[in-house]
Amino acid sequence: MKSDPIAIFWFRRDLRLDDNAGLFHALNSGYRIMPVFIFDTDILKQFKTAENAQVEFIHQQLQVLLKELSIHGSSIEIGHSTPEAFFEKLCRKYSIKAVYTNEDYELSARTRDRKIEELLKEKGITFETFKDQVIFSKDDILKDDKTPYTIFTPYSKRWKQKLRAEHLESFDTKSLFSNFYSFENDYIPSLSDLGFTKKRGVSFPSAEVSNELLSNYSQQRDYPSIEGTSRLGIHLRFGTISIRKLVTQAQALNETFLNELIWREFYQAITWHFPHICESKAFKPKFDNIVWRNNETEFKAWCDGKTGYPIVDAGMRQLNETGFMHNRVRMITASFLIKHLLIDWRWGEAYFANKLLDFDFASNNGGWQWAASSGCDAGPYFRIFNPQLQTERFDKRLDYIKKWIPGFDPLTYIPPIVNHEFARKRVLKVYDDALNK
Ligand code: FAD
Repeated sequence: MKSDPIAIFWFRRDLRLDDNAGLFHALNSGYRIMPVFIFDTDILKQFKTAENAQVEFIHQQLQVLLKELSIHGSSIEIGHSTPEAFFEKLCRKYSIKAVYTNEDYELSARTRDRKIEELLKEKGITFETFKDQVIFSKDDILKDDKTPYTIFTPYSKRWKQKLRAEHLESFDTKSLFSNFYSFENDYIPSLSDLGFTKKRGVSFPSAEVSNELLSNYSQQRDYPSIEGTSRLGIHLRFGTISIRKLVTQAQALNETFLNELIWREFYQAITWHFPHICESKAFKPKFDNIVWRNNETEFKAWCDGKTGYPIVDAGMRQLNETGFMHNRVRMITASFLIKHLLIDWRWGEAYFANKLLDFDFASNNGGWQWAASSGCDAGPYFRIFNPQLQTERFDKRLDYIKKWIPGFDPLTYIPPIVNHEFARKRVLKVYDDALNK
């Protein structure tokens, strides 16, 4: 065992050196800091296919971090095991005094962190966590009666009222880089060591959004044929961008964009306060009475973009080919699966989770439960998206549809899997029966 005392900084959803709250506190701790990342086998085994763009993104980002850290004579200890096993191993190798990390609000992450905290405590090592990926978390934003908000608009109003310049101050890690522990890493697993392969056709978006895009965001963001949104989802998910910097930019340029960032925090807060949603349960329990049809052939047609509803099919093909789907089309495809096909929203949630580059449990679950009307701030269940009307409003010239369904011709396109009016009446009856039980 090496005897000089060190502390660990554990990277998770915060794969950057700059303006990183937990890393800043670690580098200020008085110890030399050894960065650590774990390819957590408990998480990896949940992925259903060998192609997973998020794993690929993490792998790529680790190379970037390794390069940056090597400039400061340091590196990252990389694990490929359960976090418990990895920390046991590290504790045998080094004299660790403290572990620093940033908070994660999902139930499984909280359970994992409690276990690690216990394990470290038994060894006399402290476990310190910090807020980094959001501006406000946990009980920061509560109603006057100290209960959590479940409706977005009053939550966002309070969020904006509470925001002060100090919430957006960046953590100056750069001036502390000399406090990294000097070492060379001898183990960096390849993608195939991890059990994954590269996905063809996937490219990762830039971690920056232009002021011009943000200035036009309100007018353009709802039209899927326009590249009018930031594509920052994956960077926010893995912390390759600082939320403080992005909120500062949004504040200066576009209130609608700021609201979207607040939606993200709203869903994070819902996940924190209502962990039952992390256990596959509807936010509103009554909605778990719905009797789904769950027809596997129809599910496959939806997954493959072959429902005969062009806007739905275009969206699913965009997702399958690129790992991205425009927000408006996410709403349409999700609503279609749930309400037109009466397939359990959890099937769609899992499909998106495996395909989306920007997959994030809180926002994905929030989006799906919104579409199922079972969510915290969902529309009434009898409001059912009409794919044809949505197309007329948001893809009038069919540019988006034609992009993702090459050679699209409305006259010869595959017939609809289900009639809209029939499906509408059917779902209303099924929801009525379940909710008025
Ligand atoms: P922009 O429009 O540029 O917005 C900037 C950022 O704000 C996004 O990157 C995201 O972090 C946040 N944001 C925007 N809209 C929302 C929203 N409605 N809810 C929460 N955060 C939002 N978003 C995810 O980040 N991960 C998911 O897994 C996810 N799954 C979804 C599933 C469904 C069924 C639906 C309807 C929405 C889902 N969303 C999800 C929300 C939204 O569609 C995406 O955040 C957005 O399309 C990502 O594109 P962008 O980065 O260009 O977003």
